[in-house]
Amino acid sequence: MRGGLGGFQPRKPNFDGIENFENKGILYFVKDPKIFDNKNIVISGGGDSALDWVIELSKTAKNITLVHRRNEFRGAKDSVDKVQQLKDLNKINLITPAQVFKVDGNERLQTVYVKKNDEEIKIEADYFIPLFGLIPRLGSISDWGLEIEKNSIKVNNALDYQTNINGVFAIGDINTYPGKLNLILCGFHEAALMCQAAFKIINPGKKFILKYTTVSGVEGFDGSLKKAEGSVLKSID
Ligand SMILES: Cc1cc2nc3c(=O)[nH]c(=O)nc-3n(C[C@H](O)[C@H](O)[C@H](O)COP(=O)(O)OP(=O)(O)OC[C@H]3O[C@@H](n4cnc5c(N)ncnc54)[C@H](O)[C@@H]3O)c2cc1C
Repeated sequence: MRGGLGGFQPRKPNFDGIENFENKGILYFVKDPKIFDNKNIVISGGGDSALDWVIELSKTAKNITLVHRRNEFRGAKDSVDKVQQLKDLNKINLITPAQVFKVDGNERLQTVYVKKNDEEIKIEADYFIPLFGLIPRLGSISDWGLEIEKNSIKVNNALDYQTNINGVFAIGDINTYPGKLNLILCGFHEAALMCQAAFKIINPGKKFILKYTTVSGVEGFDGSLKKAEGSVLKSID
């Protein structure tokens, strides 16, 4: 099994009732920018995604408010400068340091509540887009009965990267063991040992012979054997 750090999910704001308006005004991704034309939008976040979408949607939105818990934004300098210009030109509302703490509405989202110090600000909004980055999750893999530690699968690194379930191997970023490094090289090393162990399970009794491609060649995509020329007996003038 190779699943990296898992599937990526949006990091969501932490307040009650947010799930009531998910896909009913609250979106964690912008898939179709056209739906925001002439709408009231609140975007939350302090990174490149928040900055980029504020810049883009400010061209067509009716009103756009950017809320961030700090005064500083971590993003491309050009984007930070553009957002500053949009604010100076009154093309966007910027509320910092502040956080959205409540949302409300009937069938759909209607109101976003922002707390700035002790002040509570009520904003009429058709859309609230929190852009707090992504977090990796193992998802359904975590229900397989595998031993899991901090969102990673424990394996036997002294032997063959097998998990606590016989015949199930985990290699690459998805696994953990003492001294684990999330590097491409480590993933390849784990794969070589894992393949050797899997070969023995798939072919019980068959002898495994370790071959070097420099000596035995490799099978090409056209099925032919690609091999370096062997030694020759030739005089050198
Ligand atoms: C910004 C960054 C820079 C890096 N730079 C370096 C570097 O310079 N050198 C280096 O050695 N390493 C680097 N790494 C680490 C390196 O990228 C990883 O160690 C390596 O990619 C791990 O390979 P993997 O195959 O285990 O996982 P991944 O390359 O993450 O592949 C896992 C795949 O599984 C898919 N997947 C996840 N869950 C499921 C599921 N449930 N069903 C189906 N598919 C699923 C994912 O979508 C993904 O395509 C970097 C990592 C990052 C984040």
